[in-house]
Amino acid sequence: MSKVEHTTIRNNSLFCLNCGGNHPLNMPVAINEMTKKIDAFNVLHKDCAKTWTEPKADQSKSVTEKAMWWIGNGHVGMSSKTMWNYFIGNKDFPINHPYDPDDFSRCWELLEAVPEWKERVPELATLSKEWKALSENWEKLTQMYEQNKKENWVNSKKVGMYEFMQNLLGYGS
Ligand SMILES: [Zn+2]
Repeated sequence: MSKVEHTTIRNNSLFCLNCGGNHPLNMPVAINEMTKKIDAFNVLHKDCAKTWTEPKADQSKSVTEKAMWWIGNGHVGMSSKTMWNYFIGNKDFPINHPYDPDDFSRCWELLEAVPEWKERVPELATLSKEWKALSENWEKLTQMYEQNKKENWVNSKKVGMYEFMQNLLGYGS
């Protein structure tokens, strides 16, 4: 299977970061079936043009409208979906916290889409001990993430966001 950098899996679909094209995967999918689909997708998107950029929420809309936009159009991951469920006011949803800077990036994107929720981050402490540790250090995590993003992750070792998260979550040495 050839690796194409701009193919990723996003919201249960194969997704092309170049042109924004996608192909839904009906999960669960057998691994050989998945490989075939990815290969076919890669062939289709071998030479497509870089026309896609991460969509942004329309900030003139209401909190609920932006939240609904994000769940349909944003890069939804398990931990960011936990935040979304909590902030939107749902009950009985799976609780997952971010494990690494990649997970955190999707939480960060959600808060960029719905900035009104930034001040509610401390409430997430009630979800789990991991969320408590993370939410109490959200500002620092945000600074680390934004520095990494700005510097294209070239100084990520020095910034130490991954290690910081591991320590907060109790996996550190
Ligand atoms: Zn493409």
